[in-house]
Amino acid sequence: MIETLQPGLYIVATPIGNLQDITFRAVDVLKRADAIAAEDSRVTAKLLNHLEIRKPIIRYDDHSDAETRARVVERLGSEAIALVSDAGTPLISDPGYKLVREAKAAGHYVTTLPGPSAAIAALTLSGLPTDRFLFAGFLPAKAKARDDAITELKPLLASIVLYESGPRLGKTLAALAGGLGNREAAVVREISKRFEESATGTLADLADRYADAPPKGEIVIVIGPPGEAEAPDDEAIDAALAEALNRLAPGKAAAEVAGRFGLKRGDLYDRALALKESR
Ligand code: SAM
Repeated sequence: MIETLQPGLYIVATPIGNLQDITFRAVDVLKRADAIAAEDSRVTAKLLNHLEIRKPIIRYDDHSDAETRARVVERLGSEAIALVSDAGTPLISDPGYKLVREAKAAGHYVTTLPGPSAAIAALTLSGLPTDRFLFAGFLPAKAKARDDAITELKPLLASIVLYESGPRLGKTLAALAGGLGNREAAVVREISKRFEESATGTLADLADRYADAPPKGEIVIVIGPPGEAEAPDDEAIDAALAEALNRLAPGKAAAEVAGRFGLKRGDLYDRALALKESR
């Protein structure tokens, strides 16, 4: 007789490739849960077959209507429901956030079973700095929105982790090289599967490599942090101030150039006045 689980929501990470990457605890909870909430019942059925587990599957994703979610939340009062996604950790570019939020708001027991996630696995394989990183999920599909998102990422002093698909990879890498400058990066593919690969180089190298050769399989892009900012040289600052003074009063010219070089306006104001007077 299998001991029953405390009612509530169990967030269960599942493998991202190699089925042996499931944890003992994940198998135990999947066996003992009353039901399994999954985004795609066919994908989850394959995993359960492999584990020889038979359980009712509730189809759930965050686009499910509020009523469906409310029904799942209500069941958490008396049943142990395991939440899984197609692969990896639920909620990480996958459904579950709304369900977890509402389950907690309703006062139910919610716990998580840590396990594989492609973002963390790729970061560890990339050879890029791991001390600070930002996970940015999938970039928007449309070029303008994608480029705006890249502009937002540019000033971050951290590695960046992105999910991507093969057909979009070349264009995304070219946009990243254009928007972030030529940073070190890695294209990490098919983690824990037969053709696992981590290709490293600058963003421009990688954009060239994949421009006409979209790779197969599942992909994570990892980008290293920007290099140390070079101290701006006085000549470059004077040239920028001289150009800005053709259009602007000294105060505004100083503000514009200070913004561009990451300096303080007050530090450039006297220089702008002197340049103006020397004309
Ligand atoms: N929740 C999942 C996780 O924790 O990794 C991610 C789900 S997201 C919908 C799927 C994306 O994750 C894929 O498009 C790919 O970018 C990445 N991914 C998943 N499995 C992967 C693998 N084995 N190798 C490389 N990337 C993978």
